[in-house]
Amino acid sequence: MTAKILSGKAVRDQILNDLMVMIKKLKRKPTLAIVLVGNDPASEVYVREKEKAAAGIGIDFQLIKKPSNVKQNELEEIIINLTRDKKVKGIVVQKPLPNQIDGEKIDRLVSPEKDIDGLNPASYFHSTTAQGVVRLIKENKIEIAGKDTVVVGRSKLSGLPTALLLLEEDATVTICHSKTRNLKEKTKQADILVSAAGVPNLIKADMVKKGAVVIDVGTMRTKEGKIVGDVDFENVKNVASYISPVPGGVGPMIVAGLMMNLVEASESIDKQVV
Ligand code: NAP
Repeated sequence: MTAKILSGKAVRDQILNDLMVMIKKLKRKPTLAIVLVGNDPASEVYVREKEKAAAGIGIDFQLIKKPSNVKQNELEEIIINLTRDKKVKGIVVQKPLPNQIDGEKIDRLVSPEKDIDGLNPASYFHSTTAQGVVRLIKENKIEIAGKDTVVVGRSKLSGLPTALLLLEEDATVTICHSKTRNLKEKTKQADILVSAAGVPNLIKADMVKKGAVVIDVGTMRTKEGKIVGDVDFENVKNVASYISPVPGGVGPMIVAGLMMNLVEASESIDKQVV
C-alpha cells in the first residue's frame, strides 16, 4: 500500500484565491502585524511564508522585529499599540518567545478580535494549527466523527488545541506527550494519528496501524538545511492510507487559516466602525 498524499498546497492556493476576491470588497485594506523576537531560523521561515501569502492577496504587512533580549514591558507596549492601531486587523506574536518573556501574558494582551492565531483564551478564533489539521482531513473527505485519534504533543500552540478541535469534531481523542509510557502502544491504536512533537523521525512505520491517516505537524530544519517533520515519511507511507508531507502538508494550511481569520477579523472590525 502507498498512502495518498494530503497536500496542503492545493487547498491553500484555492483558499487564498477566494480570499483575494473578498479582500477587494473590504472597505479598508487590512494590515497583518507580526511580532518576531530573536533569530530562530524556523520562525523566520514561517514569517516569510505569511508575508508572501499576505502580499499575494493584497494584505498590508507590518513586521516588528526585536532582539532576543527584549524586555517584557517593551513587548507588552508593542502589543497594546498594535491593538489600538485601526489599520491593524490581525496580530501574530511568532513563537517561540525567549525564556524571560511571559508568553501567556503576551497572548492574553492580544485583543480577542485581532487574535487571528487563536492563542488568547478569549480569542474569537480557533488555533490556526488545529484549524489547518482538521481542514486538511475534511478537504480529503475523511470522516473524523467516532475515529480513534491520537495526538502526540500537548503544547498550547499546537497539540492541545488540535486535540480539542478533533474532540469537537466527535473523534475519540488520546493525547500523548514526553512522559507517555509506551508511545507505540498508543499510536498503533489510532485511525487518525497527528504528531506535533517537533522530534524528527519520532513516528516510525511500526508505530502506525495499517490504513491509518497520518498528519505531521512537526517542522524542523536539519543541519543540511532540509525541512523534515516528526514522521518517518518514506516508511510510514507504506503503512498509512493517507499521509501529509513536510513541507507542503499542514504548513500551508496554517498560513491559509491565518489569512482566513484575518479577513474575518477585518470584516467584523469594519462593521463596528461606522
Ligand atoms: P513544543 O512546545 O516543544 O511541544 C512539543 C510537544 O511534544 C510537548 O507536549 C512534548 O511533551 C511533546 N513531545 C516532545 N518529545 C516527545 C516524545 N519523544 N514523545 C512524545 N511526545 C513528545 O512544540 P510546538 O510549538 O507544539 O511545535 C511542535 C512542532 O510543530 C514543531 O516542530 C513546530 O515547528 C511545529 N509547528 C509547525 C507549525 C507550522 O507553521 N508548520 C506551526 C506550529 C508548530 P511535554 O509536554 O511532556 O514536554
